[in-house]
Amino acid sequence: MRTVFTSSSNDSSLTSTSSPSQASWSNWDGRQRFTPAAFERPRNHAELRAALQRAAHAGRCVRVAGAGHSFTALVPTDGTLISLERMNQVLGVDLTTGLVRVQAGITIHDLNAALDANGLAMENLGDIDKQSIAGATATGTHGTGEKLRNLSSQLRAVELMLADGSVVTVDADNDPDAWRAARVSLGALGVVTAVTIQTVPAFRLYAEDGPMPLDEALEQLDELVAANDHFEMYWFPYAQDALLRRNRRTGEAPTARGAVSSYFEDIVLVNYGLGAFSRLGRRFPALIPRLNRTVTRVAGSSRRIDVSHRIFVSPRLVRFTEMEYAIPRKHATSAIGAIREAVHARRLPVSFPIEVRFVAGDDAFLSPAGGRETCYIAVHMFDRMDYEPYFRVVEQIMNGFEGRPHWGKRHFQTAETLQPRYPDWQRFQAVRARLDPEGRFTNAELDRVLGPVAS
Ligand SMILES: Cc1cc2nc3c(=O)[nH]c(=O)nc-3n(C[C@H](O)[C@H](O)[C@H](O)COP(=O)(O)OP(=O)(O)OC[C@H]3O[C@@H](n4cnc5c(N)ncnc54)[C@H](O)[C@@H]3O)c2cc1C
Repeated sequence: MRTVFTSSSNDSSLTSTSSPSQASWSNWDGRQRFTPAAFERPRNHAELRAALQRAAHAGRCVRVAGAGHSFTALVPTDGTLISLERMNQVLGVDLTTGLVRVQAGITIHDLNAALDANGLAMENLGDIDKQSIAGATATGTHGTGEKLRNLSSQLRAVELMLADGSVVTVDADNDPDAWRAARVSLGALGVVTAVTIQTVPAFRLYAEDGPMPLDEALEQLDELVAANDHFEMYWFPYAQDALLRRNRRTGEAPTARGAVSSYFEDIVLVNYGLGAFSRLGRRFPALIPRLNRTVTRVAGSSRRIDVSHRIFVSPRLVRFTEMEYAIPRKHATSAIGAIREAVHARRLPVSFPIEVRFVAGDDAFLSPAGGRETCYIAVHMFDRMDYEPYFRVVEQIMNGFEGRPHWGKRHFQTAETLQPRYPDWQRFQAVRARLDPEGRFTNAELDRVLGPVAS
């Protein structure tokens, strides 16, 4: 009998074949699929420890799956796959300090609901809430806002179970190097079992979406970024106008937004509209420049006020694959100009917008935004279209701007090309060798992007 393990808040899929310990797994865009030798879904530390012992006895490597929303092959393994979807509880809320401790498998969606109920919020979020907290932080997942750092910077402690079943909790004081390694770890150090998050009092955002000619937006980029707590820009590369998303904190009451109008805006326009245009573009690539301009024109303008997480997050129903690069912010305008030139010169069939966001630097050893004010530029390719020619061209451009790839999104780098881009690369590797000396938490992707565990 085949059982599909999915939950409403997790749309990667795990399919059990003959017994619950065997499963085939695929990620969100369906382009990463594999069957591990064993699949474990522990409910507590004891079950997790037993799963790690079974893997050790069988001589297997171990990977942990979050919600399967990475595009890269971080999760696939022919060894043991562990999911913490059953370790998803809120463990403690301290209303005086705003510190909230949760099990690592909780999704951001469920976390937001629990925080909301306590009058708290994450200070910043990315644009979906399907990820697990451990999975999101492990790859340096980020939102936008020049004064705000990525999600992993909101952590205050990380609890890990190591390959031998021992549990360590690292924070900034007790083990500064492990702390800077564990926040963006790619799952290379051990199983993250719980995290403590610094939350903020719940807040509302005034969200203003609307078009502006791209050249004008680029001229005013610094002002636009500074004037908004969370500034973001989408731009279909054959269109003249960019679509700006400007979110500012407000004390004003939420605007009434009926179920019908939000369904129309979020689902019909943003998802089905984009899906229909993208399918047309896939069938008739020559139409893509015209479709780019039409979709930009119909996107229109909107204003609303709502609780922060409902503004940050929106449904993503159209499947795509993605590459995203973090570059020093000072290069933003030149990099966008170079992408425009390359897409036009090669007539690349790009039916999805380019997304531009800004974050503050942080100090996690492997954070793509580590140590520098950062502009993130993301490129997407619609389902079942060849992404490689476009992504290789963009990667070449990003290489020229000191680019560091998002760990969860497609790229073609290797440990050799990445190491010079991370000043603390060796310190990460030293922590990795200390916490996972036998190299138990690795797979082919980690061998490619991090290299082997140092002996
Ligand atoms: C539609 C869509 C929208 C997205 N939007 C954004 C965005 O706005 N901003 C952004 O930065 N990124 C975004 N992403 C990328 C996404 O946030 C990251 O790839 C993220 O890592 C996915 O989290 P996950 O829970 O699905 O983890 P997975 O993809 O399942 O795993 C990611 C990594 O975390 C490790 N891991 C997971 N749980 C544990 C654990 N308990 N212990 C140890 N290691 C663990 C895994 O081994 C793997 O290395 C988006 C992706 C999609 C598909």
